[in-house]
Amino acid sequence: MFDWPTFFRQYGIQYVREGANVAQGHININCPMCLGADPSHHMGINVSNGKWGCWRDPSHRGNRPHRLIISLIHCTFGEAKGLVGDIETKEAFDIGYITNLLYDPIRENNSDQTLNFPIDFIPIKNSGSTKKFYNYLRHKRGFGEHTDEVIEKHKLTCCLHGNWENRIIFPIYLKNKLVTWTGRTLGSDSTRYKTLSRNDSPPALERITDTIFNYDSISETGGETLVICEGPFDALKIDSLSFGARSRVPGSLDGIRGEPGTRATCLFGTGLYSKQKILLSSLDKAFGSIYILLDREMYGVAMRHASSLILLDVKVAMLPENIEDPGDMSPTEVANFILTL
Ligand SMILES: [Zn+2]
Repeated sequence: MFDWPTFFRQYGIQYVREGANVAQGHININCPMCLGADPSHHMGINVSNGKWGCWRDPSHRGNRPHRLIISLIHCTFGEAKGLVGDIETKEAFDIGYITNLLYDPIRENNSDQTLNFPIDFIPIKNSGSTKKFYNYLRHKRGFGEHTDEVIEKHKLTCCLHGNWENRIIFPIYLKNKLVTWTGRTLGSDSTRYKTLSRNDSPPALERITDTIFNYDSISETGGETLVICEGPFDALKIDSLSFGARSRVPGSLDGIRGEPGTRATCLFGTGLYSKQKILLSSLDKAFGSIYILLDREMYGVAMRHASSLILLDVKVAMLPENIEDPGDMSPTEVANFILTL
């Protein structure tokens, strides 16, 4: 039987075990086949026989997990088979992966559509009404003297009102084109990261899980080492505090590793999606070695991702014992961590 709860946790898909739409012996999710129209867990999965079905649309149902997996994570049928864990499908998985390599998301992205920031996304300054965002980056997130550089290099903005109120906005670019953004709340909002979707107005041009953070910059510079992280703050921390080898920022790791240095990206979660694999595969020649660094309890997931990036020879990195979250590391801890790679 396919282990749906583990799959949902690995891919950051929210599910419920009880509630208005949850029948006995089922777990429920928002139906991915309803394409954003289901806000309240209408897709039920029977945990004892694996059958799944949607309350909203009787055509959204099945017995085998593959079609639901494909709807959820936009993978190929071959990859879904690989996930389902059928040993006989190893070959199908590899063929599915290579077929995917023929599809180029960057070329696809050259449509005429554009995405622009709302007018209420404003610069983060060390004064006035946006100083709380500056202080959050400088002190809470520990960017210290690198704060201005991080804001500038990653075009971070913030929002004081409306849908994105009280969030730091991370714009996501692909081939110099804004394709989506995600906003990290400063407050205790249960949605820590809120991300522009394809159903929003304006719509995102790409699903965030079809992108990787910082792609344009890391593909341009390349480097000795690439670290694939979970969240944008993890990537920002490792990237900004080791990028000094190029930007000559005081207190950087310049001289420790020399050029080219360590760069970082993130997957916006613990899942690794088809298009992300393609983007990462395109960095094959740009880096000497590639590591994946997830939270400690996701070690097994990191191992699986590493083995699914068959062409890249990805190694799994471990955080030092005393550190829970890569985004919490001090500059010295980042330096020491990078020296272990
Ligand atoms: Zn549905």
